[in-house]
Amino acid sequence: MYAPDLKNPKTLNAMKPTINPIYNDFEKIIGIELPYYISDIEFDHNSYNVSIFIDYHSKSLFNCECGQSNIQIHSKKHRIIRDLDIMNYKANIHIDLPIINCPNCRFKTVLPSWSTPRSGLTLKFQQRLLAASSFIPLSTVTKLTGESYDRINHVIKTHVEPAREKVDMSGVQNVGFDETSKKK
Ligand SMILES: [Zn+2]
Repeated sequence: MYAPDLKNPKTLNAMKPTINPIYNDFEKIIGIELPYYISDIEFDHNSYNVSIFIDYHSKSLFNCECGQSNIQIHSKKHRIIRDLDIMNYKANIHIDLPIINCPNCRFKTVLPSWSTPRSGLTLKFQQRLLAASSFIPLSTVTKLTGESYDRINHVIKTHVEPAREKVDMSGVQNVGFDETSKKK
């Protein structure tokens, strides 16, 4: 009988139970890749919410950003990460993020590639917020998305301001200010 090689990180990280074939489509839509997989989806038709539960094999091995690879999970931390709405239903991803004990950096939370630290939002949702806030007022973006001003502002600070700092200003000779901008 075929027995999976549990000592091989590739085998371990590719282990996923067959739960519901439709979940594979949702994984593609959201961009969820192994070792992560969808273990459950719950629709609340009264509040127009969809909860997507993500899991991974408890013996999966993760890499640290310092370069150490194949580290076992030490503990887990529950997080709810908002993704783009699915057919007007507010979509929240529920995940227990793995915490690894890296020999170099000690305890580190491993974030999936589709989110960022402290945002509570997927990258796709953040991109949508940035696009919207570039041409409509933040107060309108908060109303449209139901996200707080502080959270949207955090996303703008994380993505837009570092990009602005990278802009090459060496060719700029004179910077003039008009009367209206002085008054601000
Ligand atoms: Zn490390």
